[in-house]
This record gives sequence, structure tokens and C-alpha cells, in this order.
Amino acid sequence: MDLSREELLDIYHTMQKIRLFESKVRDLAVAGEIPGFVHVSIGEEATHIGAAYALRPTDWFYPAYREVGAALYRGYALRPFMCQLFGNAEDPVRGRQMPVHHSIRKLNFVSISSPVGTQIPHAVGTAWAAKLQKKDDVAVAFFGEGGSSTPILMAEEIVDAPDEKSPNHAWHGKSVLDVPLGVDTFRHLGTMLGTCCATVMAEGTDPIAAFHNLMQFYRHESCGQCTPCREGTGWANRVIKRILNGQGKQADIDMLLDVVGKIEGHTICAFGDAAAWPVQSFIKHFRHEFEYFVAHGRSMVTGEALRAA
Ligand code: SF4
Repeated sequence: MDLSREELLDIYHTMQKIRLFESKVRDLAVAGEIPGFVHVSIGEEATHIGAAYALRPTDWFYPAYREVGAALYRGYALRPFMCQLFGNAEDPVRGRQMPVHHSIRKLNFVSISSPVGTQIPHAVGTAWAAKLQKKDDVAVAFFGEGGSSTPILMAEEIVDAPDEKSPNHAWHGKSVLDVPLGVDTFRHLGTMLGTCCATVMAEGTDPIAAFHNLMQFYRHESCGQCTPCREGTGWANRVIKRILNGQGKQADIDMLLDVVGKIEGHTICAFGDAAAWPVQSFIKHFRHEFEYFVAHGRSMVTGEALRAA
């Protein structure tokens, strides 16, 4: 696709604009100046602004949380953007949506609806409706990367697939790292492909620190609609912080399992399960590291005492 210098500059200018604006928004949210929550697209600007360039203004956007730059490219102004975060009178949907749920009818930019993945069937429905109306509208759905919610595989695990009919038979006796990514191959290993991504941790990574990062992520990303997810992710985050700060008890490890057991299967979207599974998997594989940290107040892997704010 040939792009003129003016088009390239226009795209680049929008990328810079959303990055600068969201950087400020994030700082204000951290300082408590913006209520609710914010999600930013920093580092992902090109993905959706490039798509906005390629689409016609009449085509449809079904974003996740990090694609509002596409709306800016179509003419969404920064003032209503900010007003949406406050849900005030100048918010395009007058406060009837949660923060970061930008919904701009005149730009064919449809709000995400919080529960994970719901924008996908919405986009499919729009495309189907266009087909029935014999229109050539395009509906684009965005969804994020993943890989943190799936059960963990350890490099030293050996593939056990003596049955020739097993999808992993070709790798029987080899390391699980030799098995190619695939729905069936990974299911047979006792994990999942998830969103077709894998998170790889290097030898020497402290699992307690990695676990803390994950819990912060799930706490931050919970939209809060379901009580088990809203409260459970916060609770799990507080428990791991307590452990990191040297105030944990051995019973906290089982408490983590108990808390996520009350999230799993009790929420309206898959995020709740996604928050529960890494807790179960980390404790299954690294319980001794958790126990060591509680007993000694420092990491079994690095020997360092960690602290969480
Ligand atoms: S499971 Fe969590 S992220 Fe999903 S809708 Fe409920 S509160 Fe929101």
C-alpha cells in the first residue's frame, strides 16, 4: 500500500497525540485526579490507527480497551475523550457507560462492553447485518494478547504420549518445549493455547515476583461488574503483597487458592477464570518457593527480599 508523506505524517501525528494524552491521563489516574479506572494504548498505537487508515469512515470499529486512537484518527476530540472518563454532561453517552467505554455513534466506533470478548460477536453480528442488507461494510473487532492465564508448563517436563493416536506422540519422551503450539497438542499437555500466545519465563525468574506482577495485572484489569472478580482479584493482590512485605503466614498460600476458587465459574465473563487459573498453577508448581518466602522473608531463587507498595 503506497502512502503519501501527508498520510504518513497524519498517522504519525495521531499516534503521538494519543500517546501524549494517555500518558497524562495515566498520571492523573495514578494521582487520584481521575475517578474510576483508565486503560491506555501506549505501545499499541500503530495497530489500530493503521487499521483506521485502511478502513472507510463508514466501516465499523469494535475496540477492546486500547484502540481509542482509531477514534481520534476519525475525528474524536480530546475534550469528549476526557469527559467520557468523568461521565459528565459532555460525555458522548452522558455517563451511561463506565470509563474508557468510548462510544461514538457518528464515527461508527462502538463501545467495548467490558466482559472479555463480547465485542467479537457484536462485530460478527454487524457484518452479518450488512450482508443481509447487501452492503459491503467492514466490521473490525480488536482483542488483546494473552498467555498469562493458562496452566504453566515446566521446561523439565517430559511428554508422555505412548499412544500413537495421541496428538503428541511424535514428541513422546522429549521436552514439552519441543511440542509445537496447537490447540490439541497443548490440551494434551494439560494446558491451553489460550489466545494463541505463550509467556516464556527465563531460568532464574523469581516466581513470587512474577506472580505478584500477574496479580497486579488482574486486579487492575477487572472491570468490577462481578463481585467475585472485583473483590477476589483485590483480595489475592493484597495477600501476595502481604507475603512480599514479610508479613505473610503459611495459611495465606491456601487462602489464595480459596479466594480464587470463589472466582472461578462465578463470573459473567472468562476474565474471572483467567484470574483464577494462574494462581492455582503457580501454587501447584512453586508452592515450596511460596513457603520459603513466607518462612524467610526473601526469595528462594534470588535470595532478595522483595517489597510491594
Ligand atoms: S469477570 Fe471480571 S472482568 Fe469479567 S465482567 Fe466480571 S468483573 Fe468484569
